[in-house]
Amino acid sequence: MSAAPAVNLLEFDLDGLAAFCERLGEKRFRATQLFRWIHQRGASDFSQMSDLAKSLRGKLEGAAQITALPVITQNISQDGTVKWLFDVGAGDAVEAVFIPEDDRGTLCVSSQAGCAVGCRFCSTGHQGFSRNLTTGEILAQLWFAEHFLRKHLGVAERVISNVVMMGMGEPLQNYAALVPALRVMLDDHGYGLSRRRVTVSTSGVVPMMDRLGQDCPVALAVSLHAPNDALRDKLVPLNRKYPLAELMEACQRYLAHAPRDFITFEYCMLDGVNDQPEHARELIALVERYRTDGVWCKLNLIPFNPFPASGLKRSPAPQVSAFAKLLLDAGLVTTVRKTRGDDIDAACGQLAGDVKDRTRVGQRIALQRQVPLQVVAAPPEGN
Ligand code: SF4
Repeated sequence: MSAAPAVNLLEFDLDGLAAFCERLGEKRFRATQLFRWIHQRGASDFSQMSDLAKSLRGKLEGAAQITALPVITQNISQDGTVKWLFDVGAGDAVEAVFIPEDDRGTLCVSSQAGCAVGCRFCSTGHQGFSRNLTTGEILAQLWFAEHFLRKHLGVAERVISNVVMMGMGEPLQNYAALVPALRVMLDDHGYGLSRRRVTVSTSGVVPMMDRLGQDCPVALAVSLHAPNDALRDKLVPLNRKYPLAELMEACQRYLAHAPRDFITFEYCMLDGVNDQPEHARELIALVERYRTDGVWCKLNLIPFNPFPASGLKRSPAPQVSAFAKLLLDAGLVTTVRKTRGDDIDAACGQLAGDVKDRTRVGQRIALQRQVPLQVVAAPPEGN
C-alpha cells in the first residue's frame, strides 16, 4: 500500500494546523510554534525548526511539506512594483503584484485561476474561468512574496503591510478557501496584519458579503463601475443577479461589522461609457440615497488600462479630473488611483495570468463585445 501524500501545511489556518498536529499526537502549542516558523520566518525545511522536538520533526518529514508555487516569471518595474506569475498546474497560472509606497507595501493576491464573472473591462474576465485556488495557493502568494522581498531588500522585518484580494478572480465566489487564508493573514502568529489592512474586493456577491461580515470582517471594496442597473448589467454581469439596490443594502449591513467605517467603491473610468457628467450626478444620487450618517463610502476612480480585446478606451485625464471634481463638490470622498507597474502590465485590471477557460466565459464576453455600451446615463430615480 502506498503512503498517503504529504499534506501542504500552507493549506491550514492555526486551528487547522492544531487539528493536524493533534492527529500526529502533538499539543496545540506545537502547532503555534510550527505556524510561526512557516509564516513569520518563511521556513520550508523542518530540520531548520530548532525549537521543535526531534520526534515531531521526524513525524512531519513523513506526513507534511511546505510547498510554494513554482514561479514562471518575475518582473520588476522601474517604480519598484514586482509582478509574479505562479504555476498552479494543468496549464493554469495566476499573478500577484507587490506595490511599494512610502508608508506601506501592498500585495495584490489572486483567488481564482480566471474568473467567471466576466466584467467587460477586465483582462482576467476575458480569459474565462478554470478553477478556484485552494487556501494554500492563495497563501503561497503571500508567503513567497514576503520572504522573497525580505531577502531581496536585505531586511529582517515585515515588508508587506497590506493585502488586497484584487488579483485574478472573485474572492467571494471562492469563500471556503478565502476565509482560512484571511485568518492566517490576520493571526498574530501568522502575518499579524490588522483587519483594516486586509481588503476583500468584490463585484457584489451579496449573500457572501453578509457571511464575510459575520465570519471574518475585513475592509471591503466593491467594484461599482456604473451608477445605474442598465449600464452595470453590461459592465459587471453579476449585477443581473444582485442589482444595485440589493448591493447597496448589503454594503450598509456590512458597515455594522467592518473594521473601517466606510466601504470603498471602485469605479473604472471608461471613455464615453461611464465617465460623463450625467453619470457623476447619478452616482452622487445613488450614494446619497443610502447615506444615513456622515461618510459611509469612499470613491476610488481607476483610469482604465486598455487591452486590445476589450474594445474600450481609457477616459482622458481631464475627463477623470472633471468627474472627480463633481463628486468632491458634492462632498464625496474621492481619490484617483495612481497607475503603477504599467511597464510590466501589472496595473489594475491587467492581470491575465494564463487560464484554460473551462466555462466559455471568454466566448460569452466576445459575443457581448458586439453590443455597443450605453453612453448616456438614465435619468436619476424620481426625475
Ligand atoms: S473585475 Fe474582478 S470580478 Fe470582474 S471579471 Fe475581473 S476579476 Fe472577475
